[in-house]
Order: sequence, then structure tokens, then C-alpha cells
Amino acid sequence: MAKLEIAGTERGRWTWFVASVAGIPVRVHFTLLLLLLWFAWIEFQAGGSLEAHGGSGPTPGSLPAIALRVLFILGLFACVLLHEIGHALAARSYGVRTQEITLYPFGGVARLKGMGTVRQEFWISLAGPTVNIAVGLALLAVLHFSGRWVPLDQMVRGDVHFFPRLMIANFILAGFNLLPAFPMDGGRMLRSLLARRLGMVRGTAIAASIGQALAILFGLLGLIIGNFLLLFIAFFVFVSAGQEVAVQRSLDLMRGHRVAGAMIRRFEVLGHSDSLGQAADLLLATHQQDFPVSGGAEVIGILTRADLVRGLADHGPRAYVAASARRDFVRLDPGDGLAGALERMHAQGQRVALVFEGERLAGMLTDENVGEFFQVRAAQGDERDAGEPPEGEARGGGA
Ligand SMILES: [Zn+2]
Repeated sequence: MAKLEIAGTERGRWTWFVASVAGIPVRVHFTLLLLLLWFAWIEFQAGGSLEAHGGSGPTPGSLPAIALRVLFILGLFACVLLHEIGHALAARSYGVRTQEITLYPFGGVARLKGMGTVRQEFWISLAGPTVNIAVGLALLAVLHFSGRWVPLDQMVRGDVHFFPRLMIANFILAGFNLLPAFPMDGGRMLRSLLARRLGMVRGTAIAASIGQALAILFGLLGLIIGNFLLLFIAFFVFVSAGQEVAVQRSLDLMRGHRVAGAMIRRFEVLGHSDSLGQAADLLLATHQQDFPVSGGAEVIGILTRADLVRGLADHGPRAYVAASARRDFVRLDPGDGLAGALERMHAQGQRVALVFEGERLAGMLTDENVGEFFQVRAAQGDERDAGEPPEGEARGGGA
């Protein structure tokens, strides 16, 4: 349910900030509120049924019963939050920061700024389930010594036994997350062990294959028993395992390459007093989609195709390009590592950056031309840029 995610900088959409724990912002996805309302509704509906009620708890469908059910879900998500905090604090002990923790109906996500080294990933991943085992054992001890222990078969029935159920939920949370279904915690631990021997790319590929095989089993099980949450988790594991493999492959491809090797060197530059109409002509006449905009000797911004189209719609073809150009473009150096450069661009939500040699505009870098660069490289048989590698870390050193 809970998982680690390598940070992008955009924060989750449709989420609310609820609190800051140990300096980490905690956000909640709005669908979690829907989940609470849904459970309240189910409980409310239960009041209409004529089923005999043998327990000592509140009458099904009554206000106390609804409150108890909602409270249980809240308690469950508090334990999920503790799980994520476990990851975050373990990461912090290795100097890896956590950008935020977000709670979704299917579990929590701690967005870490990198995963630490391969070795550290093992312990960071283990920390989450360990917290749930600790909470479960603490509840077990309290129940045992307070004499409120109830037999297992009673425990699983009804919402009456709040803390025993919460204890079981914690053990289930820990067990489920420890399954070797990459990218869930157990799968990350497996990847860590594999990557030490086989390298990050092979290790990730094998862990992801196991993860996807398990995801198919989860999915089938979810279908058979009609559990949509399980079905959803299966889908989530399957897709994100595939994504992680792709990320590792492209990171590995980029290792050792510099911006200078991949950048576009021949391109048109717009003057700040050129009109949007002129820019549109250039867009049609060339392959270029994005145009640096100069104001005299210096570059003042960049006009992307989206900016151009928006500018034309808002201001018409006679307006100056300067008004529609974006000034917050990403500046790169030809010697920057390619992987880090792309990471910076995506972190700022840009798919194009300008490359400067000192103050002189030397090139442009776009997602598309980086893609082409690697296609050409692959066709030629890959050779690294001279004077490598800018990232300068051992394979599997992590972000
Ligand atoms: Zn976890």
C-alpha cells in the first residue's frame, strides 16, 4: 500500500495540506474524504438491514456506529502515515530529504529526493513496514496486559473491537508491503540486493519482472474475490514497475553524456520586437518549435510553440513576441551532465532549455532532440563523450 517514490517537484494534484510532521509536509488526496463518506454510507445502509445484531457494540447504522467506522479508517490512515514517516526518518538519517508525504485511498506515498545508495535503499524501504510491526506489537502488548484481549475469530467480526482490529491491520500492512512486488517496499529491498551484484539496470529489470508477475496474481485474485482495492493496487504495481525500468534504462543511457553532445546548434533567434505573426511564419517554415528571444545582445526569454499559439489567440499576430515569451527559462552549461540537465528541466516543468557558453547563446536542448540523440547513438553503437563522466559516480550509486 505504501510506497516510496523518487521525487518530481510538482506536488500531488487535488491534495490538501493537513499538517507538518518532523518538518515534512503531510498532504491528503481529496478522494480519501470520499472514502470516509463511502464507509459512513455503508454503515448507514447497514442500519436498514434486518440482520440480527449479536455484538455488544453500537447498533448498526446508528450515529455511534458510523462514527466508530469513520474513526477506524482514520486510525488506519494514521498507521499508514506512521509507516511513511518511518521511511522519511530512515532516509533523513542518510541525508536524503523527503519533499512531502501524501495519503491516498490506496495508501501513502513518501516523495524522497533521491533514494540514497543501493545499500541505503534496503534500510529505507524496510523502515516503513518495521514501524507497522512495532505499532502492532505495542497494541498487542497493551491489549494483553490490560486484559482486553479477544479471541481471533471475534476480532475480525464487526467494528466493535477497535484496537484489536487496528493491531491486525498493522500486521497486514507490514506483511503486504514486504511482498517482493517491486516497487512496493519488499520489492525495493529485493532490487537493492540484486543491484549490488548485477548493477542497477539488471537488478531493477529482474525485480520489476517479479513485481509485475505478482501484480498479475493480485489482479486475478482481486477479480475473483471482487476486491477493487486489490485490483487497483495490482494495476498500480504493474504500471509503476514498468516505469521504473524505463527510468533506470534512460538514466544508464545518459550516464557519461554531456549537454554539449546532444544540444541543437543551428536554430533561429527572434528579436524582442518581432511580431507573433513573424514567429508563426518561422514555425511553419522550419522544424523549430521553440525560439530564443533576444533583446539586443542578451537573451531575454524563450517562446515555445504553446506560448506562440496562446499569444496569437490572446493578442493577435501583430503583438510583439516579447510579451508572450517566458523569462523563467532553464540555463544550462555545455559541460553539464545530460541526466542532471533533463532532471532540472522537468523539475521546472520545461521541455526546452537554453545552453550558454559564458554569456553567449550556444545551443538549445529539448526532450525531442535528446530522444533523437540517443536513437542516433544507438544506431551508431554507443560511444561516450570525451572526458567522461560528469556524474562521476559508480554504477548503482543512486541519485
Ligand atoms: Zn512503504
